[in-house]
Amino acid sequence: MIEHICKKCILPHGFLGVSLGSEGLCEFCTDPDHKNVNWSRTAIDQERRNQALTDWKLVVEKMQIEHEKCSYDCILGYSGGKDSTALLDYLVNDLGLTPLAVTTDTGFMTEIAKDNMKDTLAQINVDHVLIEDCISTFTKLYKWHFFNHNSKETFLARGICDYCSDLIHSIVVKEAIKQEIPYVLFGYSPAQIFRYFYEMPQEEVIEAWKPELIFDELIFDESDHKWYLNDGEINSGILPRVLLPYHVIPYREQDIIKLVESKNYIKKGHADPLLTNCNVVHAATFYDFNRYGGILYAYQYAELVRQNPESRKKWLRTLKMSAPLILENNFKRKEVNLFFSQIGVTQEEMQEHIQEQLEQDPNKKRILNIIAMFQKKRKTRQVAVLTQ
Ligand SMILES: [Zn+2]
Repeated sequence: MIEHICKKCILPHGFLGVSLGSEGLCEFCTDPDHKNVNWSRTAIDQERRNQALTDWKLVVEKMQIEHEKCSYDCILGYSGGKDSTALLDYLVNDLGLTPLAVTTDTGFMTEIAKDNMKDTLAQINVDHVLIEDCISTFTKLYKWHFFNHNSKETFLARGICDYCSDLIHSIVVKEAIKQEIPYVLFGYSPAQIFRYFYEMPQEEVIEAWKPELIFDELIFDESDHKWYLNDGEINSGILPRVLLPYHVIPYREQDIIKLVESKNYIKKGHADPLLTNCNVVHAATFYDFNRYGGILYAYQYAELVRQNPESRKKWLRTLKMSAPLILENNFKRKEVNLFFSQIGVTQEEMQEHIQEQLEQDPNKKRILNIIAMFQKKRKTRQVAVLTQ
């Protein structure tokens, strides 16, 4: 079965957006510039990096000059994760600024994230706005995607992440317009450059964030539309700039963890991204593997292998070990089932829906082949564990 996996990376034949050529290589390994909707390697050249860093320094200077004149220098999109926590510390303690911390509750914020916020805000004296009225809109958005995603190109996890973050960003930007705050900052790490590098361009803020599906009157109404930018806000002339400082200022994951733990913002071990990772993504990963025979994470693993061929064995093993767990909902099972109950379905109903879609998929055979390949591995592995 191994011949169905790209010889250079770890992407299987028949994965959404991947087919192996005669050499046994996937499109990404054959052509270094290849990209598709699930994955593209974004290379940022040094000149663009330097420009962005110069811009950031100017923005900081401006905020510091205007500091006395306004109540808040900027808004920070604050999730309670390690990155936005460290950025909050940097703005307040290193730059002497007064940000307004704004948290958008999607309804799926983890207890750990909430704990982190409580611990941090007890020590950093900033105003904090928690927006919770939007939960029902997020819930409808997730439900829409889980029942209407049917694609030949993209994984559900890709789409749902984009639509969800667009809504989060939009809610935070609305708060900035309301309070006339000129900058909105998010703590995205340097690795998170799939869509944006350093700045979310204003034309995207205006045009791309409000999706067509929100006009589906059977599901969405005015109470949902209000979380997206309206014409009045767009034409107000006070749209904030939306910036991602960690794309240009020094960032090392281990330093960030050390900082948030040593200052007791986040309890030891709670800075692990897997713990603060959202349940929606875990549920979408379960859906994707059963529906398409693939997961978005594999694209990321494959890229790491291309950058460091020696790590192929490790990532292939990771994929093979996690695959059967994900397929049978034994990875983050509690979280996934909690998510399903919040959008009003059971795991069985979701599985039935997946089967119905799969039946009609022209790629059904290829998909079932991949699933069988990963299920088979598990059995040999279990035997191996038992005989140890
Ligand atoms: Zn490959």
